[in-house]
Amino acid sequence: MARIPGKNPWIDLFSKRMENLEYGDRWNLNFNYHLKPDLEPGQRQEGWKICKAWSFGRFYCHCSHSWTSAHVVLLFQYRRKKNRGLVLLRIFRQGCRNCRNSPELKPQVTHDQIQKAFDRLISKILKNCYGEMVDDVERNLPYRKTQPHERSLCEACKIGICFNQDNVGD
Ligand SMILES: [Zn+2]
Ligand SMILES: [Zn+2]
Repeated sequence: MARIPGKNPWIDLFSKRMENLEYGDRWNLNFNYHLKPDLEPGQRQEGWKICKAWSFGRFYCHCSHSWTSAHVVLLFQYRRKKNRGLVLLRIFRQGCRNCRNSPELKPQVTHDQIQKAFDRLISKILKNCYGEMVDDVERNLPYRKTQPHERSLCEACKIGICFNQDNVGD
């Protein structure tokens, strides 16, 4: 993704949150649209961990159709090494049910929703990278009326990690 540094809300908000940590480590967030939902043994050995989160988001297609989804799946992989931390984020895309031949689209997520996803991620980082005793932040999305989820158009459904599937844990 070609983006101007500092103009992406995910990167901006994450940096601000992590600047407030007491540990003085430097954390960065990058996008990676090839992340896999499971770690390979080599990655595990290198200290990588996984966090999945869910969010509301809104999709806008060039055919002018738009929709809100309660099934925006966020997959984070994170690692702290020495005084640096790195988070990789894959945001799962959805296709448009109106024109159906569009490329898969990335959702727009409000700052408030992004912060809630980070609440969960950061609680995991504090626990798994710094040994803090923190409660997991579960995301129970409040009910919002949305169109039925179209599984055939959802990238996360295709690889079996979507919101309403069995393996929601962790
Ligand atoms: Zn469309
Ligand atoms: Zn799905």
